[in-house]
Amino acid sequence: MKYFSTRGGNERLSFEETVLTGLAPNGGLYIPETIPSLPPDWKTKWRSYSFIDLSVAILSLYISREEISEIDLRTLVQKSYQTFRHPDITPLKKLDDKRYVLELFHGPTFAFKDVALQLLGNLFEFFLLRRNARKAPGEKQEKLTVVGATSGDTGSAAIYGLRNKANISIFILHPKGRVSPIQEAQMTTVSDSNVHNLAVTGTFDDCQDIVKSLFNDAAFNATHRLGAVNSINWARILAQTVYYFLSYFHIQAQLGPDAERIGIQYVVPTGNFGDILAGYYAQRMGLPISKLVVATNANDILARFWNAGKYEKADSDLEQSTSDGKQGTSSSGVKETLSPAMDILVSSNFERLLWYLAYENVEAEEANRHDAACETLAGWMSKMKADGRVPIPTGVLETARRDFLAERISDQQTLLTIQSHFEETPSYVVDPHTAVGLAAGQIIASRESSATCQIMLSTAHPAKFSEAVTLALSAHPSFNFERDVLPAEFIGLLEKKRNVIDILKPDIDLVKAVIEGFAERDPSSQTVVGL
Ligand SMILES: *Cc1c(COP(=O)(O)O)cnc(C)c1O
Repeated sequence: MKYFSTRGGNERLSFEETVLTGLAPNGGLYIPETIPSLPPDWKTKWRSYSFIDLSVAILSLYISREEISEIDLRTLVQKSYQTFRHPDITPLKKLDDKRYVLELFHGPTFAFKDVALQLLGNLFEFFLLRRNARKAPGEKQEKLTVVGATSGDTGSAAIYGLRNKANISIFILHPKGRVSPIQEAQMTTVSDSNVHNLAVTGTFDDCQDIVKSLFNDAAFNATHRLGAVNSINWARILAQTVYYFLSYFHIQAQLGPDAERIGIQYVVPTGNFGDILAGYYAQRMGLPISKLVVATNANDILARFWNAGKYEKADSDLEQSTSDGKQGTSSSGVKETLSPAMDILVSSNFERLLWYLAYENVEAEEANRHDAACETLAGWMSKMKADGRVPIPTGVLETARRDFLAERISDQQTLLTIQSHFEETPSYVVDPHTAVGLAAGQIIASRESSATCQIMLSTAHPAKFSEAVTLALSAHPSFNFERDVLPAEFIGLLEKKRNVIDILKPDIDLVKAVIEGFAERDPSSQTVVGL
């Protein structure tokens, strides 16, 4: 299997090159040349597979045997999910006959990004060890230095994915004092010598600007050879397809003989469109998903795409009418909500779906269809960059609506949803991101009459977002955060020894000095920037 850039060109990469490169040089994202179909007997053969078995079976369809043998792949997958606390890795929990929650937060940092980042870290290590083993004695060894900015949530998942990995070091910038105490402790109590936490006096936007500038700094680039390791990395999408299959088999077992007649919707709290895109690949491979539901918070560019048929950064219907829109809006135009991991302006992985939509709708001879789709997509992306909006042809929207639905959920609805699930029997405490999905699922279910069943993806443990959970439930006489929410792993975390370097002002040179300081002790290193 080879991979190409959504924005065109003749470049064709192996899986290894795709994973190590991240973002294509022309700004595009890598996608597979074809979407493989499932083996004819998958429904019976895979039915009793564990998460590990399914992962090996699905990943094998996208990675040629010559690149990673089946034995090596199984070892990598097993190692990646050993760190999970639940035997199913991603267990399915029944709420009622029509609603199930797919819990994705049983990994080391209690959030869904662990599912992909645990595997990504092991893939990096595997490829680097193999490259270095092939080098002649004395030849320069390949190393990676990952640099990223976090507002709290994703940094810890990346640190836990890369800690203690050979030939890799990781630098994570966070705004000092502006990350929740639990999230700050999760990152800074990791003591492995390849992990470096940089606490920057400044905002999250400052941290992100520094990382972007490092990436754009030609001199730094020349010395360290930059690349990207962010949420657009293909391996992350691929790793996430597995739990769609696993939950499908689990729900089939629950639904019994009627299962085949019941449509299954997957409801996904969405930010950068990585989690739900994995569901789209699963569906395109042949998994019977009736609809994928995009659930957004007030940062609703995707909900507006599906419901208003407009793809634009700012809502043109609102632009003139609101004057108080500035509150809670950062300098970049992103609105701050109770579900911060979904606070985005434009979803980077959406480009991959747009490519498939372009491909289906483009008017071209069969032989030119691929190139025409890349050209159309590249046109849309540059228009978005220049104008902040792209006119979407009707045919493209219809294709998008065939597979997806979308809902936007306010902070108020998020809090009410946390409350109502706490009050249900049995009581269930959900994090604010999961609550966005549950609320969207409810709205959609209330409009449907046909036989459908919903699987809501739960993306974080409620203890990670204690602020929103406490805000929703503190008035409740029977609620106790320590007793009802806090996992044993978090107890005592705040008192543990910290590993953190203070950056006293948001200054790129201070950050460079730290990175270069560590690189000098290890002169063979090269740098990969961006998370
Ligand atoms: C990253 C994240 C999301 C959004 O996932 P995308 O793949 O970016 O759409 C939702 N919830 C939580 C808790 C997350 O960390």
